Amino acid sequence: MIDPEPTASHFINGEYVEDKSGKLVDVIYPATGNVIAQVNAATPEILEAALNAARGAQSRWAALTGTERGRILRRAADIMRERNRELSELETYDTGKPLQETLVADASSAADALEYFGGIAGSLTGEHLQFGEDFIYTIREPLGVCVGIGAWNYPTQIAAWKGAPALACGNSMIFKPSETTPLCALKVAEILCEAGLPAGVYNVVQGLGDIGAALVTDPRVAKVSLTGSLPTGRKVYSAAAEGMRHVTMELGGKSPLIIFDDADLDDAVSGAILANFYSSGQICSNGTRVFVQSGIKDAFIARLKSRVGSAVLGDPMDEKTNFGPMVSEKQLKIVEGFIAKGLAQGAKLICGGERLDKPGFWLTPAIFSDVRDEMTIANEEIFGPVMSVLEFEHEEEVLKRANATEYGLAAGVFTQNLQRAHRVVKALQAGTCYINTYNDAPVEAPFGGVKMSGVGRENSKAAINHYSQLKSVYVRMSELEAPY
Ligand code: NDP
Repeated sequence: MIDPEPTASHFINGEYVEDKSGKLVDVIYPATGNVIAQVNAATPEILEAALNAARGAQSRWAALTGTERGRILRRAADIMRERNRELSELETYDTGKPLQETLVADASSAADALEYFGGIAGSLTGEHLQFGEDFIYTIREPLGVCVGIGAWNYPTQIAAWKGAPALACGNSMIFKPSETTPLCALKVAEILCEAGLPAGVYNVVQGLGDIGAALVTDPRVAKVSLTGSLPTGRKVYSAAAEGMRHVTMELGGKSPLIIFDDADLDDAVSGAILANFYSSGQICSNGTRVFVQSGIKDAFIARLKSRVGSAVLGDPMDEKTNFGPMVSEKQLKIVEGFIAKGLAQGAKLICGGERLDKPGFWLTPAIFSDVRDEMTIANEEIFGPVMSVLEFEHEEEVLKRANATEYGLAAGVFTQNLQRAHRVVKALQAGTCYINTYNDAPVEAPFGGVKMSGVGRENSKAAINHYSQLKSVYVRMSELEAPY
């Protein structure tokens, strides 16, 4: 068991709440396969308590000024940064991601979100429109109780990316983490309260999909923000539609990364590594279809293979380790299934794809070449450390192939030709595009997908419109005329 063990499974109305009657969920450290903690799924009574707490607290929270709300969020950001190591270690226990990554990418990104939305909370306004003597003004209002449902790959960050804009706008939130990584969101709630957040404004309940489903259809809920897979997104979106709830859907992807023959080869190899193997490939926006122009394909693969061969797999808590295990046995088996399909359909495994003979969920980073568009590994989201290299000849051809997917989360291009870079990103069907880089996601920029990759945007000022609504007020100052 980790030390300290989680105080309790849920965080409701400003405090940890234990209820041992719910289904017991083991928390497994992916690096060893050992059970490190246990939480209980929420019972109907726990859900009721969370919903009542969130509803009761929301209007009082919304009645504070934006500046007052923002101050609390920014204080939470400061506490999060002070506790970065502890939170990073917890994230590593929850997900297996190496400490080298979690120290810079998880609690710190969550703190950025709290600081950013805390910073703009005081300046959230409506508009004033003048029509002669008359005028219209708009009031920006919160939606009410928001539900956040998280995936398992970035549990601290997802809890804050949803919570920070929701709270800045005056909403309350109930967050349900993935059952695979239930620990980190509890700390986000604890820190928010330590920073002075009134009880009930941000709550965390544990549970599997059925708990998320129960929240999505509750009449007290005004908004649902999901980070998850496309199949779950379809279910949550249609369940939310019944009650006309607002939604944000951050779903999966099968993003293209296009490398032209004039690219800086070392940069392009770095980009392909960042786009496929960071977090053991468990990132939604990953550029897993790596299109390489034919003239440089062999040189690219040779350099890539040598660089990936130097990845350090080992104890995730050792800061020298830069490649960790997969999150779970279940996810590892799914990825092994894709590797078997790739081989059966004729793709060439250049390296990796082997399960390590030790406890935990270890898979070496896999690179496939000779991948054709119709193969399963070139079409379905794998969500693991598996890169597919596809060859192309011309710009027009690669754009057509890159866009031939139901997804549209991200896309990247490596080239030194400025005009081509901008022409290509304009044509790519994706919510986020990268030129000579990959997978940056600062809070200042909108993040989200097109096509089946999602609805709405997280981060940036764009998120404000997804957590608030505008009321128009018409004010007549001149004499009012009527036809009779
Ligand atoms: P899932 O879709 O399996 O689960 C996501 C969350 O939804 C979990 O908390 C899950 O609970 C919950 N859930 C499952 N069924 C329902 C339901 N019917 N109603 C309400 N909630 C439900 O995704 P994973 O956790 O496996 O995460 C991987 C997926 O997330 C990938 O497809 C990835 O691309 C996507 N993702 C997208 C991101 C983005 O920003 N676009 C970022 C990160 C990941 P539980 O698992 O506990 O049963």
